[in-house]
Amino acid sequence: MSEQKQTQQMRDYVLPFQVGDHAIRGQVVCLDAVAETILSRHQFPDPLSTLVGEAAALVSMLGAALKFDGRFILQAQGDGPVSMIVADYATTNRAVRATAKITSGKEDKLAKAKGPDFLHLLGKGHLCMSIDRGPDFDLYQGITDLRGATLSEAAIQYFTQSEQIPTMIRLAVGKLSLPGEDMRWRAGGILVQFIPAEGGSRDRGEAELQKQDDKEAWARAEAFVASVAADELLDPSLPSEDLLYRLFHEDGVRVFDKTPIGFDCTCSREKIAGVLERYSDHDLKDMVEDGHIAVTCDFCREKYKFPVES
Ligand SMILES: [Zn+2]
Repeated sequence: MSEQKQTQQMRDYVLPFQVGDHAIRGQVVCLDAVAETILSRHQFPDPLSTLVGEAAALVSMLGAALKFDGRFILQAQGDGPVSMIVADYATTNRAVRATAKITSGKEDKLAKAKGPDFLHLLGKGHLCMSIDRGPDFDLYQGITDLRGATLSEAAIQYFTQSEQIPTMIRLAVGKLSLPGEDMRWRAGGILVQFIPAEGGSRDRGEAELQKQDDKEAWARAEAFVASVAADELLDPSLPSEDLLYRLFHEDGVRVFDKTPIGFDCTCSREKIAGVLERYSDHDLKDMVEDGHIAVTCDFCREKYKFPVES
């Protein structure tokens, strides 16, 4: 992200919030330059760009909520025209990246897709969420079958079924033209989860009462978030704080510091060279074109060229 953008109003961020005194926490995400960078580099057909943008928005919210250093990875794999969607968020540099793989031979089917219909694009498969905290920790991983017409529906299914965390998510991606600026991609989203505090001994009756109170508050929060329109998530003239007030003013809403989100990729010349070293001389020879081997990073489309002596 450029320094000049930082000094203006923050346009790529995650805003954490809490509803009333309840254990209802959430995040709002806005991706402006980050969405444009990711999606314009890939040049996918629009329905797939939309889906990849949604994945980037979702991992930004989930990743920014991590309280330790690590990488939050979302991966969806299927047997449809799109074989894979991957998005990840690194806490160390607060950076998101995302990509997709198109199944060779199924490009026509993808071209016919009208919207980011999850099951149509991915087909049958699974959704996987992982948290990678580095070599000193076990990789945390949860997997569920792909279900739902949209990525948000599949993710809600994942959290409620696999993680037993009541969750509501809305995601939106679109091309917008702001006054004096070129048409660009934008992505937005909102997520709420009911996460009761763990431990503590409470009087049974009080706990029950609190539970009922929580239940009602959760039902309201869930319904309010489900009602959020795509426009509300993408409109740059609607501050996220105003959207939250609009949704939760009855219960009260507390917002915390925004996390600025950037785009970054972990690829490097050294890493790609390391991958190439694993190939046989014969295979490497096949990759040579015009006196060099060219490798493009799947995530950021950065091109690396390695000269080959003949
Ligand atoms: Zn890269």
